[in-house]
Amino acid sequence: MNETSWGLLDEAAAAFRGARHPLALTGAGISVESGIPDFRSDDGLWRRFDPAECATLEAFHRSPAKAWHFYRALGEILAGKLPNPAHQALAELERRGRLRAVITQNIDGLHQVAGSRRVLEVHGEHRHLHCLGCGWKRPVSPADYSEEGVPACRHCRRALKPNVVLFGELVRELQEVDREIEACDALLVIGTSAEVYPVAELPFRVGSRGGRVFEFNVAETALTGDADFTFRGKCAALLPAFVQALDE
Ligand code: NAD
Repeated sequence: MNETSWGLLDEAAAAFRGARHPLALTGAGISVESGIPDFRSDDGLWRRFDPAECATLEAFHRSPAKAWHFYRALGEILAGKLPNPAHQALAELERRGRLRAVITQNIDGLHQVAGSRRVLEVHGEHRHLHCLGCGWKRPVSPADYSEEGVPACRHCRRALKPNVVLFGELVRELQEVDREIEACDALLVIGTSAEVYPVAELPFRVGSRGGRVFEFNVAETALTGDADFTFRGKCAALLPAFVQALDE
């Protein structure tokens, strides 16, 4: 089945209720209503910065100062942002024992702020800086974003970078994600264009083993034709409605 319809909410809720290993997979779209634009939108960061120039590992090695220009713009966008009802709905599902984990591509940490405990951050997080030379890590401080220049590693003096995954770096938590996906029989896919690999293939892996895939997005995606249930709209409205339907 693949229809966009609020009429399917009860049917979707019934299918999700019976799941033994339900998971959520989230992307930039879940944080849009918290005021963090996705990168590809008209006001997204890729309109102002060329990812090849500032968000690849190679670019970081070539010019940490240029990369930090981008990180400061990113830090400004993320500062002070709060979770929205979609993040809260997922935290509530976990509290009620109806969600095993959230796999997220986001680096903003809003799932944890909302109260989600099991969050697999496959693209890293922005709360720490780390050293690519010796592996040293420390919490990010407001000064890192307000001051000019490039913060240096206390031990080996190399340039520090935010603990986020750049293009050309390995995705994190893959073994854990693999285990979760192998067990998963219901996957909520929320606010992701399903284009960035290897995360993009996860819904298809669940679907090919007979698991149910539920998509929540404002637009059509590469996944839409294959999802069992597709809900079109803003996830801060859709997710709380879905959680409520589970109670009925
Ligand atoms: P994406 O930008 O490729 O896709 C975002 C998706 O969200 C789109 O399909 C869009 O239609 C949908 N969307 C937008 N607003 C929505 C809303 N209110 N409700 C429901 N859906 C909505 O994002 P992606 O798939 O996560 O991949 C981009 C990469 O950029 C990720 O790897 C991520 O690391 C990074 N990123 C992270 C953040 C963050 O941490 N908040 C923000 C921007 C980008």
